[in-house]
Amino acid sequence: GAVVRVQNVTKEYELGGTVTALDDVTLELPESSYTAVMGPSGSGKSTLLNLIGALDTPTSGNVTVDSRNISTLSESERAQLRGTQLGFIFQTFNLMTRLTALENATLPLVFAEWDRTQRQTRAQDLLEGVGLGDRIHHLPRELSGGQRQRVAIARALATDPTLILADEPTGNVDTETGNEIMELLAETNKRGNTILLVTHERRIAERADRIIHMTDGTITRVEETEATA
Ligand code: ADP
Ligand code: ADP
Repeated sequence: GAVVRVQNVTKEYELGGTVTALDDVTLELPESSYTAVMGPSGSGKSTLLNLIGALDTPTSGNVTVDSRNISTLSESERAQLRGTQLGFIFQTFNLMTRLTALENATLPLVFAEWDRTQRQTRAQDLLEGVGLGDRIHHLPRELSGGQRQRVAIARALATDPTLILADEPTGNVDTETGNEIMELLAETNKRGNTILLVTHERRIAERADRIIHMTDGTITRVEETEATA
Protein backbone atom coordinates (compact mmCIF):
# COMPACT_ATOMS: atom_id res chain seq x y z
CA GLY A 1 0.00 0.00 0.00
CA ALA A 2 0.92 3.66 -0.14
CA VAL A 3 2.18 5.43 2.97
CA VAL A 4 1.31 8.80 1.43
CA ARG A 5 -1.26 9.77 -1.20
CA VAL A 6 -1.29 13.30 -2.62
CA GLN A 7 -4.35 13.70 -4.87
CA ASN A 8 -4.92 16.75 -7.06
CA VAL A 9 -3.44 19.03 -4.44
CA THR A 10 -3.36 22.77 -4.91
CA LYS A 11 -1.88 25.07 -2.30
CA GLU A 12 -2.35 28.81 -2.55
CA TYR A 13 -0.92 31.50 -0.31
CA GLU A 14 -2.64 34.87 -0.04
CA LEU A 15 0.04 37.52 0.12
CA GLY A 16 -1.26 40.70 -1.48
CA GLY A 17 -2.18 38.59 -4.49
CA THR A 18 -2.55 34.82 -4.70
CA VAL A 19 0.60 32.67 -5.01
CA THR A 20 -0.04 29.15 -6.28
CA ALA A 21 2.74 27.14 -4.61
CA LEU A 22 1.37 23.76 -5.75
CA ASP A 23 -0.90 23.34 -8.76
CA ASP A 24 -2.89 20.09 -9.03
CA VAL A 25 -0.13 17.77 -7.79
CA THR A 26 -0.72 14.02 -7.58
CA LEU A 27 1.77 11.48 -6.26
CA GLU A 28 2.05 8.38 -4.08
CA LEU A 29 4.82 7.19 -1.80
CA PRO A 30 4.69 3.38 -1.69
CA GLU A 31 5.65 1.60 1.51
CA SER A 32 9.45 1.37 1.95
CA SER A 33 10.10 3.58 -1.08
CA TYR A 34 12.84 6.20 -1.30
CA THR A 35 11.86 9.32 -3.24
CA ALA A 36 13.78 12.53 -3.86
CA VAL A 37 12.18 15.83 -4.88
CA MET A 38 14.27 18.21 -6.97
CA GLY A 39 13.52 21.59 -8.48
CA PRO A 40 14.61 25.22 -8.48
CA SER A 41 13.99 27.57 -5.57
CA GLY A 42 10.31 28.51 -5.40
CA SER A 43 9.11 25.41 -7.30
CA GLY A 44 7.03 24.16 -4.35
CA LYS A 45 9.31 21.53 -2.73
CA SER A 46 8.99 22.85 0.84
CA THR A 47 5.26 23.36 0.44
CA LEU A 48 4.90 19.72 -0.62
CA LEU A 49 7.04 18.55 2.32
CA ASN A 50 5.03 20.68 4.76
CA LEU A 51 1.75 19.19 3.55
CA ILE A 52 3.00 15.60 3.68
CA GLY A 53 4.48 16.41 7.10
CA ALA A 54 1.00 17.47 8.27
CA LEU A 55 2.37 20.91 9.15
CA ASP A 56 -0.15 22.59 6.86
CA THR A 57 -3.32 21.68 4.91
CA PRO A 58 -4.03 21.98 1.17
CA THR A 59 -6.29 24.63 -0.37
CA SER A 60 -7.91 21.85 -2.41
CA GLY A 61 -7.34 18.15 -3.05
CA ASN A 62 -6.37 15.49 -0.51
CA VAL A 63 -3.21 14.55 1.36
CA THR A 64 -3.46 11.15 3.06
CA VAL A 65 -0.71 10.03 5.45
CA ASP A 66 -0.92 6.55 6.92
CA SER A 67 -4.56 6.34 5.68
CA ARG A 68 -5.55 9.59 7.40
CA ASN A 69 -6.73 12.62 5.44
CA ILE A 70 -4.84 15.48 7.06
CA SER A 71 -7.56 18.03 6.16
CA THR A 72 -10.02 16.24 8.43
CA LEU A 73 -7.66 16.19 11.44
CA SER A 74 -7.58 18.80 14.18
CA GLU A 75 -4.32 20.61 14.94
CA SER A 76 -3.68 18.30 17.90
CA GLU A 77 -4.43 15.18 15.83
CA ARG A 78 -1.94 16.38 13.23
CA ALA A 79 0.62 16.92 16.00
CA GLN A 80 -0.08 13.39 17.19
CA LEU A 81 0.42 12.06 13.64
CA ARG A 82 3.74 13.93 13.34
CA GLY A 83 4.90 12.68 16.71
CA THR A 84 4.14 9.02 16.11
CA GLN A 85 4.34 8.33 12.36
CA LEU A 86 6.79 10.92 11.01
CA GLY A 87 10.48 11.65 11.49
CA PHE A 88 11.88 15.02 10.43
CA ILE A 89 15.47 15.80 9.41
CA PHE A 90 16.38 19.41 8.61
CA GLN A 91 19.28 21.18 6.94
CA THR A 92 19.95 23.11 10.16
CA PHE A 93 19.63 20.02 12.43
CA ASN A 94 17.18 21.79 14.80
CA LEU A 95 18.62 20.23 17.95
CA MET A 96 17.89 21.62 21.41
CA THR A 97 21.12 23.45 22.26
CA ARG A 98 20.95 22.85 26.03
CA LEU A 99 20.23 19.13 25.77
CA THR A 100 22.79 16.37 25.25
CA ALA A 101 22.81 14.07 22.23
CA LEU A 102 21.05 11.42 24.32
CA GLU A 103 18.41 13.86 25.59
CA ASN A 104 17.78 15.18 22.07
CA ALA A 105 17.33 11.66 20.72
CA THR A 106 14.88 10.76 23.51
CA LEU A 107 12.59 13.78 22.92
CA PRO A 108 10.13 12.08 20.52
CA LEU A 109 9.84 9.24 23.05
CA VAL A 110 8.93 11.66 25.81
CA PHE A 111 6.12 12.88 23.56
CA ALA A 112 5.15 9.26 22.79
CA GLU A 113 5.05 8.60 26.56
CA TRP A 114 7.65 5.84 26.69
CA ASP A 115 8.98 5.22 30.17
CA ARG A 116 12.32 6.66 31.12
CA THR A 117 14.40 3.48 31.05
CA GLN A 118 13.06 2.40 27.65
CA ARG A 119 13.66 5.87 26.26
CA GLN A 120 17.28 5.86 27.38
CA THR A 121 17.91 2.36 26.03
CA ARG A 122 16.30 3.12 22.66
CA ALA A 123 18.10 6.46 22.24
CA GLN A 124 21.44 4.99 23.25
CA ASP A 125 20.97 2.09 20.78
CA LEU A 126 20.17 4.52 17.99
CA LEU A 127 23.11 6.79 18.78
CA GLU A 128 25.37 3.73 18.70
CA GLY A 129 23.72 2.76 15.40
CA VAL A 130 24.68 6.12 13.86
CA GLY A 131 28.25 5.88 15.22
CA LEU A 132 27.90 8.23 18.18
CA GLY A 133 28.08 5.72 21.02
CA ASP A 134 31.00 7.63 22.56
CA ARG A 135 29.34 11.05 22.28
CA ILE A 136 25.95 10.54 23.93
CA HIS A 137 26.53 13.03 26.76
CA HIS A 138 27.87 15.79 24.51
CA LEU A 139 25.97 18.99 23.81
CA PRO A 140 25.32 19.93 20.15
CA ARG A 141 27.97 22.68 20.32
CA GLU A 142 30.53 20.04 21.29
CA LEU A 143 29.77 18.05 18.12
CA SER A 144 30.73 18.57 14.46
CA GLY A 145 28.06 19.35 11.84
CA GLY A 146 28.03 15.74 10.69
CA GLN A 147 27.75 14.46 14.25
CA ARG A 148 24.86 16.86 14.90
CA GLN A 149 23.07 15.57 11.85
CA ARG A 150 23.61 12.00 13.13
CA VAL A 151 21.93 12.99 16.39
CA ALA A 152 19.06 14.44 14.34
CA ILE A 153 18.81 11.16 12.41
CA ALA A 154 18.76 9.15 15.65
CA ARG A 155 16.03 11.48 16.94
CA ALA A 156 14.04 11.08 13.70
CA LEU A 157 14.26 7.29 13.99
CA ALA A 158 13.36 7.11 17.68
CA THR A 159 9.71 6.13 17.27
CA ASP A 160 10.52 3.97 14.21
CA PRO A 161 8.31 6.27 12.10
CA THR A 162 6.55 5.08 8.96
CA LEU A 163 7.93 8.01 7.01
CA ILE A 164 11.14 10.07 7.23
CA LEU A 165 10.98 13.59 5.76
CA ALA A 166 14.43 15.01 5.05
CA ASP A 167 14.79 18.63 3.88
CA GLU A 168 18.28 19.26 2.41
CA PRO A 169 19.88 17.02 5.09
CA THR A 170 23.36 17.46 3.60
CA GLY A 171 23.02 21.21 3.01
CA ASN A 172 25.20 22.22 5.96
CA VAL A 173 27.93 19.57 5.92
CA ASP A 174 30.96 18.89 3.73
CA THR A 175 30.83 16.40 0.84
CA GLU A 176 32.36 13.47 2.71
CA THR A 177 30.11 13.94 5.73
CA GLY A 178 27.18 14.32 3.35
CA ASN A 179 28.01 10.93 1.85
CA GLU A 180 28.03 9.37 5.32
CA ILE A 181 24.64 10.94 6.10
CA MET A 182 23.28 9.56 2.81
CA GLU A 183 24.65 6.09 3.70
CA LEU A 184 22.69 6.22 6.96
CA LEU A 185 19.52 7.23 5.14
CA ALA A 186 19.98 4.39 2.62
CA GLU A 187 20.44 1.95 5.51
CA THR A 188 17.31 3.29 7.17
CA ASN A 189 15.38 2.79 3.94
CA LYS A 190 16.67 -0.81 3.70
CA ARG A 191 15.29 -1.37 7.20
CA GLY A 192 11.87 -0.46 5.80
CA ASN A 193 11.36 3.23 6.55
CA THR A 194 9.81 5.18 3.67
CA ILE A 195 11.86 8.28 2.84
CA LEU A 196 11.00 11.55 1.14
CA LEU A 197 14.09 13.70 0.56
CA VAL A 198 14.18 17.26 -0.75
CA THR A 199 17.43 18.39 -2.33
CA HIS A 200 18.69 20.61 -5.10
CA GLU A 201 21.77 18.43 -5.60
CA ARG A 202 21.49 15.85 -8.37
CA ARG A 203 24.26 13.71 -6.83
CA ILE A 204 22.28 13.46 -3.58
CA ALA A 205 18.93 12.86 -5.32
CA GLU A 206 20.44 9.93 -7.23
CA ARG A 207 20.68 7.97 -3.98
CA ALA A 208 16.87 7.64 -4.07
CA ASP A 209 14.93 5.09 -6.17
CA ARG A 210 12.91 7.80 -7.82
CA ILE A 211 13.36 11.53 -8.49
CA ILE A 212 10.36 13.80 -8.77
CA HIS A 213 11.19 16.98 -10.69
CA MET A 214 9.18 20.08 -9.89
CA THR A 215 8.84 23.41 -11.68
CA ASP A 216 6.42 26.23 -10.80
CA GLY A 217 4.31 24.10 -8.47
CA THR A 218 3.86 21.14 -10.80
CA ILE A 219 5.55 17.77 -11.27
CA THR A 220 7.23 17.92 -14.65
CA ARG A 221 8.97 14.54 -14.64
CA VAL A 222 9.25 11.35 -12.57
CA GLU A 223 12.57 9.62 -13.05
CA GLU A 224 13.48 6.10 -11.93
CA THR A 225 17.14 6.05 -10.93
CA GLU A 226 19.95 3.50 -11.16
CA ALA A 227 19.60 3.03 -7.37
CA THR A 228 16.38 1.10 -8.06
CA ALA A 229 16.71 -2.73 -7.84
P1 ADP B 1 10.86 25.62 -2.76
O1 ADP B 1 10.87 24.84 -1.50
O2 ADP B 1 10.91 24.77 -3.98
O3 ADP B 1 11.89 26.71 -2.79
P2 ADP B 1 8.39 26.75 -1.74
O4 ADP B 1 7.44 25.63 -1.54
O5 ADP B 1 9.10 27.29 -0.55
O6 ADP B 1 9.43 26.35 -2.87
O7 ADP B 1 7.63 27.98 -2.42
C1 ADP B 1 6.73 27.84 -3.52
C2 ADP B 1 6.07 29.19 -3.77
O8 ADP B 1 5.19 29.52 -2.70
C3 ADP B 1 7.06 30.35 -3.87
O9 ADP B 1 6.54 31.26 -4.82
C4 ADP B 1 7.01 30.95 -2.48
O10 ADP B 1 7.34 32.30 -2.51
C5 ADP B 1 5.57 30.72 -2.07
N1 ADP B 1 5.41 30.54 -0.62
C6 ADP B 1 5.90 29.52 0.12
N2 ADP B 1 5.54 29.63 1.40
C7 ADP B 1 4.79 30.77 1.48
C8 ADP B 1 4.11 31.44 2.55
N3 ADP B 1 4.10 30.97 3.80
N4 ADP B 1 3.43 32.58 2.24
C9 ADP B 1 3.40 33.05 1.00
N5 ADP B 1 4.02 32.47 -0.06
C10 ADP B 1 4.70 31.35 0.18
P1 ADP C 1 20.82 -4.25 15.56
O1 ADP C 1 21.90 -5.10 14.96
O2 ADP C 1 20.15 -4.86 16.76
O3 ADP C 1 19.85 -3.68 14.56
P2 ADP C 1 22.00 -1.63 15.68
O4 ADP C 1 23.05 -1.08 16.58
O5 ADP C 1 22.25 -1.69 14.22
O6 ADP C 1 21.63 -3.07 16.24
O7 ADP C 1 20.67 -0.82 15.96
C1 ADP C 1 20.21 -0.61 17.25
C2 ADP C 1 18.80 -0.08 17.17
O8 ADP C 1 18.77 1.10 16.39
C3 ADP C 1 17.85 -1.04 16.53
O9 ADP C 1 16.60 -0.92 17.18
C4 ADP C 1 17.75 -0.57 15.11
O10 ADP C 1 16.44 -0.84 14.59
C5 ADP C 1 17.98 0.91 15.23
N1 ADP C 1 18.76 1.48 14.12
C6 ADP C 1 20.11 1.64 14.05
N2 ADP C 1 20.50 2.21 12.92
C7 ADP C 1 19.36 2.42 12.23
C8 ADP C 1 19.09 2.97 10.98
N3 ADP C 1 20.03 3.47 10.17
N4 ADP C 1 17.81 3.02 10.58
C9 ADP C 1 16.83 2.55 11.38
N5 ADP C 1 17.01 2.03 12.58
C10 ADP C 1 18.26 1.96 12.99
